[in-house]
Amino acid sequence: MAALVPLLCSFANAQGSKGFDVPEWIGAHVADQAELLAGLIGLPRTPFVDLKYTGPEETTGLRTVHGRAEPERFSITLAGAWEDQHADARRQLTRNVAHETAHVFQYSLGEPNEARMLHEGFAEAMAVEALLSCAESCAGDGHGLEAKLRRQCGDALRMGILASQDSAERNYGCGGVLTLEGARAADLPVTELYRLFAAEGRDELALMRVLEKKAGKGFAISAKAFLYGDYRLAKPSAVYERLRAGQL
Ligand SMILES: [Zn+2]
Repeated sequence: MAALVPLLCSFANAQGSKGFDVPEWIGAHVADQAELLAGLIGLPRTPFVDLKYTGPEETTGLRTVHGRAEPERFSITLAGAWEDQHADARRQLTRNVAHETAHVFQYSLGEPNEARMLHEGFAEAMAVEALLSCAESCAGDGHGLEAKLRRQCGDALRMGILASQDSAERNYGCGGVLTLEGARAADLPVTELYRLFAAEGRDELALMRVLEKKAGKGFAISAKAFLYGDYRLAKPSAVYERLRAGQL
């Protein structure tokens, strides 16, 4: 693994009198998890992280996290109930750090101009893979994130043909399922599948070429069927099983 430089965190507050300090546990948690995840995802340096907290909202218990990545850095904006360090708050934050770190990796290979489903899907798949491999050292629960993607994608499959929708469920859920299964069928890390995809031109045809070469013709045909078939009446788990087997 490449040497990692210490993470630089800035704790910018929202402007003026409305500013809130980032809850203390968050800075340390993000710094720790970002360094670990950057190493697992294969970045030469831990990204610079810009943290912001817009304060507790009036609705009690509501907690949101918003990320935005750029080359070599990302920002995380938190709102709502983040003062207390709960396991689910840690998990939500870690998953976000993993997802944004994956976007930084995408930037490290050039402009990530792929379609949204592949951009977000690959980032989710890289997050799952990194969280699975750091297991207890990360608070992100990779198995839980993968199950969430499968549920989200199930909702998208029930909505209709994936190629003719632009839902978050399709982009994150099915994009994640497709690229994760593709990497497994190719016996490659998701990061490596993305590297090949980026070198081939970052569009759907590029993905299909890489899948055919690395995961086989059956899987590539199934991947296409996954995008263009109508599975509204099918059981999502059966669709994933057939995709995995290259028999969709
Ligand atoms: Zn994203």
